[in-house]
Amino acid sequence: MIEPIKHFSYESGRKCSAAECTRLADYEVYLYDYYPFQNEEFFEQDYTCPFLCTEHMEQNEQEAIGERKPRGFVSYPFSKRSFAQGYTTYAPLSDVYPLLYSVGTGAADPGLVRSVAEVNDELIRHLAKHPELLYDLHPRRFEELVAELLRAQGFEPTLTPRTRDGGRDILAARSDALGSLLYLVECKRYAPKNKVGVEVVRAIHGVTNSERATKGVIVTTSFFTKNAIDFATPLKYGIGLHDFETLKSWLASYRN
Ligand SMILES: [Zn+2]
Repeated sequence: MIEPIKHFSYESGRKCSAAECTRLADYEVYLYDYYPFQNEEFFEQDYTCPFLCTEHMEQNEQEAIGERKPRGFVSYPFSKRSFAQGYTTYAPLSDVYPLLYSVGTGAADPGLVRSVAEVNDELIRHLAKHPELLYDLHPRRFEELVAELLRAQGFEPTLTPRTRDGGRDILAARSDALGSLLYLVECKRYAPKNKVGVEVVRAIHGVTNSERATKGVIVTTSFFTKNAIDFATPLKYGIGLHDFETLKSWLASYRN
């Protein structure tokens, strides 16, 4: 039996998680790691210390011991009490916080097919002006955003349960005069230096073929390696690659 992911949702009035601190939380605390071989990011709320005030966030950073690198060990006075690999990152609880970071309830339950959460117009307008904020989005929130951008373009998107095997985060259906189409969409919220490689493109191509879908599509906040582009180019009717530039144009044209 897999233990469900604990998640403490933010609501105003949340207190700092440091022992005996009575101040309001200023930051949500995340555990970040990166698995270079799988080219996968781990990015989840630190349930051992979900929220910190500014003072304790600064103390947490100043007294941290260890190198902040993928698969490294860093110990902190407040966060990461699970002794997991990786390091701590913080998301400010700003006005756009609930839009940027909140994930619909049930998203942590892999048994549920998530319905498309309302991604607020305000968030999309904000991201269109500040596309660099895409890198701060929770990966699940990014999937919800992509689903909403596809819905606005005439697709019927369904978010699929989160699994480790990957291959399709969104099923995007569309019907036109010639029949029904089903696109499998994989979302990769990667940092710009972390390009999507050919193995991800091969995987979506394989899933698309085995599920007899119309086309496999990858949407990323980053870019694609040359090998990935070389693999996809002759398969342009079966594979679509969409990078940061495409996302910026989708955000800019949302509901215009
Ligand atoms: Zn505190």
